[in-house]
Amino acid sequence: MNADVSADVSADVSADVNADVVVLGGGAAGLAGAVALARSLRDVVVVDAGEPRNAPAGHAHNVLGREGTAPLDLLAAGRAEARGYGARFLDDRAVTAHRDGTGFTLGLLSGRVVRARRLLLATGLADELPDVPGLRRFWGGSVLHCPFCHGYEVRGQRIGVLGSRPSALHQALMFRQLSPDVTLFVQDLDVPAETAQQYRALGITVREGTVRRVGGTPGDLVVDLDGEDVGVQALVVTPYYRARADLFRQLGGQLATNPMGEFVPTRPGGATDVPGVWAAGNVADPGAMLAASTGAGVMAGAAINGDLITEDARALVARAAV
Ligand SMILES: Cc1cc2nc3c(=O)[nH]c(=O)nc-3n(C[C@H](O)[C@H](O)[C@H](O)COP(=O)(O)OP(=O)(O)OC[C@H]3O[C@@H](n4cnc5c(N)ncnc54)[C@H](O)[C@@H]3O)c2cc1C
Repeated sequence: MNADVSADVSADVSADVNADVVVLGGGAAGLAGAVALARSLRDVVVVDAGEPRNAPAGHAHNVLGREGTAPLDLLAAGRAEARGYGARFLDDRAVTAHRDGTGFTLGLLSGRVVRARRLLLATGLADELPDVPGLRRFWGGSVLHCPFCHGYEVRGQRIGVLGSRPSALHQALMFRQLSPDVTLFVQDLDVPAETAQQYRALGITVREGTVRRVGGTPGDLVVDLDGEDVGVQALVVTPYYRARADLFRQLGGQLATNPMGEFVPTRPGGATDVPGVWAAGNVADPGAMLAASTGAGVMAGAAINGDLITEDARALVARAAV
């Protein structure tokens, strides 16, 4: 958890917390949702385990106005903005969730209990990397997945693409836009004839075999291809995107899948099929970069506020009619 962004809810773990909205996850999506809610004068509590997906990367790119900022600095700034509007934070992990009347009760790892009328799920996803020894050591640096996040930083370099999933076939083309020196390591994957033709035209090298290990040093990797050492400066992988959605499942929610991974299905604005629960960011959209996650968080916060307004207005009318 981040030590620099201390919780401003009492440190007494025996004290329960009540709020209009609990935001689960304090990454780009959760913080943006918290700002939108707090600016609507909602009592909002953000519970954050402090492990944003892009933490291994040194810098974040394609973030308009904050290009190249370190991921944790970006979130610290977002936290300060949310806190400035009255959002409260708990550096903790939610481990249980159940429906409690019209709202929800969440159990946190610390033992604390948090109740809220609505939930915004912004817990992100876990990148499951191909099972190749040595790979994780370089993840977020010389081992990368996203041409828009860090492709520019490896432009012109000797780039390998680990072809363990069908989407790697397209990754090879994406990175060829950034470098003339791209090698696709194909493992249990057929290269369709048309794609092979494109590779030949573009000068993409295809090597067949099993990548047994990745070693070397950052920027100077050694790929062990069936015992042969192949040197690359960067290695592209295609992770399986595993939604951090245990709490959604506990509430009866069902995940959707596509060839890239799993996610919480949502409607425009982030509403899920579980009444009272919205989802935003990578937990709902594995392909969303920071800007898209931020946008989804704002939209979900706005939608939740609208939902609470409607509920309160109806309750007032019903009370007046008694
Ligand atoms: C290596 C790497 C580099 C990247 N670089 C870029 C880039 O340069 N530009 C860009 O636009 N995008 C980049 N991305 C994508 C970016 O990381 C995502 O778009 C962004 O993190 C999604 O935000 P999020 O809020 O949905 O999830 P996250 O940022 O992952 O935040 C989710 C938060 O929820 C917390 N959480 C999870 N479960 C719980 C729980 N049960 N209780 C409490 N808290 C919980 C987590 O600890 C985490 O703090 C990169 C991704 C990776 C993997």
